[in-house]
Amino acid sequence: MRRILQVAAVTGLLGLALGVPAGADARDISRDTLAADDGWAAAGGGTTGGAAADEAHVHTVTSRAELVRALDGGSATPKIIKIAGTIDANTDDDGHHLDCDDYATGGYTVKKYLAAHDPRTWGSAKPGGPQEEARQASAAAQASRVELLVGSNTTIVGLKNAVLKGASLQVKNADNVIVRNLELRDAYDCFPVWQPNTGGLGDWKTSYDTLWLSGATHVWVDHITASDKGHPDAEEPFYFARNYLRHDGLLDITGGSDLVTVSWSRFADHDKAMLIGNSDSATGDRGKLRVTLHHNEFESVVQRAPRVRFGQVHVYNNRYVVPEGSEYRYSLGVSTESVVYAENNAFTTPAHVEVADLVKSWNGTALHQTGTLFNGFPVDLLSIYNAYNSGSERDLTADVGWTPPLHGRIDSARQADHDVERGAGAGRIP
Ligand code: CA
Repeated sequence: MRRILQVAAVTGLLGLALGVPAGADARDISRDTLAADDGWAAAGGGTTGGAAADEAHVHTVTSRAELVRALDGGSATPKIIKIAGTIDANTDDDGHHLDCDDYATGGYTVKKYLAAHDPRTWGSAKPGGPQEEARQASAAAQASRVELLVGSNTTIVGLKNAVLKGASLQVKNADNVIVRNLELRDAYDCFPVWQPNTGGLGDWKTSYDTLWLSGATHVWVDHITASDKGHPDAEEPFYFARNYLRHDGLLDITGGSDLVTVSWSRFADHDKAMLIGNSDSATGDRGKLRVTLHHNEFESVVQRAPRVRFGQVHVYNNRYVVPEGSEYRYSLGVSTESVVYAENNAFTTPAHVEVADLVKSWNGTALHQTGTLFNGFPVDLLSIYNAYNSGSERDLTADVGWTPPLHGRIDSARQADHDVERGAGAGRIP
């Protein structure tokens, strides 16, 4: 061990002497492409991101302004963007931090908004009037800073310890994108909207997914860490008897997106982690939303890990951890026309979580699952789910009508649990 430390120290000194930043001796991953068999994003020509970029389109960025310039309005020019240090999306063009008060306009305040839309006086109509108009204008001001469009043929990688804070990275109607080795943190919505008719009690609706794929094809997301770090929703107040949520999804895949691989990533400390297909009526998603999720960690996630409509989604070798005392609803959400193929996933939960809690179905009909480990014991999610839900909820059949064509080696859930704990997330590319 001492010898290794000495070698590391010498290497570090050489780096300093040559003016190479700390960590620059790590392998350059910026032109990596997806392996030919690595999940759905490998189908139909594969995913290369910005690997073809010429030197003029390789950017190292350290501020929001530089990142925006490098993203080039979502252009399709092959480009590689390396993020260095921490970039805060909530900044003005001079790099000054903007907080919620800086965006608020038209007289908007939370207090006045609540007073205007109190269900006891406002009722259940859609919000409207001066405070809602002011909220919308304020929200638009924030959106113009935090929503960042990622175009086709782009690779975004984090350098050592890189963090993108407060941003919603959006791959919209674009093809061939890679996002790797990056921590995405706290896409915080300053201006949630009240929706009186959601779920019977009404609910707060927030706007920003840390990473949103809409109409996106050939996307490889690898070794990212996405969380609400800094602003847990559990610490937000309750307004109108509902948690005043500040975050939407960590990684939502909607709007006819297709051919996506999400690997070795960490999704943590969040309510609704991953939505694949956002509406039962989005029938244009039929035949699309093909996604592979492997070797990811979902820790302290309340729900949607993922929740799926329509898609052929291969979920293998993932690790799910529900810590003691954390809120939990379910992990695998089986919704309209979804055909999830789940293999060798490991779940670790406190005693009050039961096997039947791991799956929730709305309108779902099928789920393939094998090799599931629950607190160290092999279980059959399907038989338990069906046994517990013999009442009003329809049973799920095991026949999803497809077999995943592209994947790497599939390990036992026990092996995956061990490997993912040590290897998933930003900063852990071997
Ligand atoms: Ca969303």
